[in-house]
Amino acid sequence: MRVQRISLAIILAVIAAVPAFAASGKRPAPTGAWAGAPAEYTRFTAAELSRGFLALAFGSDLRLGTKSNNIRRFDTAVRLHLVAGGNDARTQTYRRIAGEFAQKIPNLNMRLVDDLSSANVVVRLIDEKDFFAAMEAAYGRETARSFVAQTDPQCMTSLKSQADGKAVRADVFIIVDQGDEVFFDCAYHETLHAFGLSNHDDRNAWTTLNQKRTVGYLSVYDRAMLTLLYDPRIQPGMTASQVRRILPHAIKDLHLDLRLGPRLAD
Ligand SMILES: [Zn+2]
Repeated sequence: MRVQRISLAIILAVIAAVPAFAASGKRPAPTGAWAGAPAEYTRFTAAELSRGFLALAFGSDLRLGTKSNNIRRFDTAVRLHLVAGGNDARTQTYRRIAGEFAQKIPNLNMRLVDDLSSANVVVRLIDEKDFFAAMEAAYGRETARSFVAQTDPQCMTSLKSQADGKAVRADVFIIVDQGDEVFFDCAYHETLHAFGLSNHDDRNAWTTLNQKRTVGYLSVYDRAMLTLLYDPRIQPGMTASQVRRILPHAIKDLHLDLRLGPRLAD
C-alpha cells in the first residue's frame, strides 16, 4: 500500500508540472479595446494553431440545407455593406473594426461599399428589440424562426456558400444597445463567422469563437486563424485531410508574418 501511495504522489506531481498549454507572450488587451477586455497571448505552438483552425474552419452549429465538411470562404473580393442602426458612434466604431480586418488579414480582399446591391457581406447594426424583425426581413418568417429555435442567438451570422465551398453571401446582425461588452464581442465574433470561420471551439482558451469567453477585439490568435483561412494554399472546398497536409507550411509562414506585423512590433 505504501509503495502505491508514493507512486501516485509522483504521478500527480508530474501532471501538475506540465502546463495546460504552451502559449506565451502574454500582454494586456490592445489600446482602444472595451474596458473589460481580457489580456491575450501572442505566441502559440503549431499544434495550438492547427487544432484551433481545424475546429473553427470546419462545420457549424447552425445548419440549414446540406451539411458541409469543407473549407468555406470567399474567393473573390469581399464587399461589405453596413446598414447603420442604433447610434452613430456604434456605426463609426464598426467601420473602424471592418477596416481593421481589411488591414490586418493579408489575403482578405475586403472593402466597404455604399451600395447594398453590390455587397456580398451585409452587416446590420440593430437595437435588441428589433432583432427578430430584422432577421425576418432578411430571411422570411419561417427561416428566421428556425434560426432562433436552433441557437437562441444574441447576435447572429449566416454564411451562404456553393457546393464547391465558395462563399457567396453573409448576413450579420449585431446588437448595439446592450452595452460595450455585447457590442464588441458580437462585432468581432460575428465578423469572423462572416468570413468563413463558421464554428465555435468552447475548449479553446484564445479565440473569441469560444462561446464561454468574451474577447471583443481582434486577438493575435483570431488574426492567425483568419490569415490561415485566406492563405492561398488553403482553398474553398478542401477537406480536413487536405488542409492538414498544408497547415504546417502555412503556420510556419504565419509566425513570420505575425511577428513582422504592427501588432507584434513590441
Ligand atoms: Zn458564434
